Amino acid sequence: MSNITQLLENNRQWSEDQKNADPDFFNKLSERQKPEYLWIGCSDSRVPANQIVGLIPGDIFVHRNVANLVVHTDFNCLSVLQYAVDVLKVKHVIICGHYGCGGIEAALQDKQLGLIDNWLGHIKDIAHKHRAELSGLNEHDRSARLCELNVSEQADNVKRSSIVKEALKRGQSLQVHSWIYSLRNGRLKDLSKVTE
Ligand code: ZN
Repeated sequence: MSNITQLLENNRQWSEDQKNADPDFFNKLSERQKPEYLWIGCSDSRVPANQIVGLIPGDIFVHRNVANLVVHTDFNCLSVLQYAVDVLKVKHVIICGHYGCGGIEAALQDKQLGLIDNWLGHIKDIAHKHRAELSGLNEHDRSARLCELNVSEQADNVKRSSIVKEALKRGQSLQVHSWIYSLRNGRLKDLSKVTE
């Protein structure tokens, strides 16, 4: 069996397992989705949203892109945010970065990778803004710190968006969280609770 055929077989097995555990599982899910969380994370294959926070399908609305960026002119990300906040009425927006992010490292090393260099320009801007702090660090710590700073900057972008501002103005319950994930131990850290 080819690898791609194996995926379809895995899916068939997964579907059976879900139905065996809860015969009503797919009926309930197909009727509606009412997630309380919007996850904006990195596309990195090692950081799957549902799995690392132990949530089943239906519990979390997800947008992922390289280096978990929220760019004010990115209508893909903004449409996800707007739909999640205005229509689904999520209560939490989680920006989740991760240490060892290839996008962050490529931006720091100024590698030439093609079209994505333009996307990574947003991270270079953040590195430039915080150059005084970053220049005093060794290579490993500089990358780790920029991963953290990037999460905080993206969370600020969410808070400054017209979508979140309008929601808060009309009294909607909505919190924005800055989290970072460690590939080494699988643990999440809430950056807003870390003392600088
Ligand atoms: Zn990444």
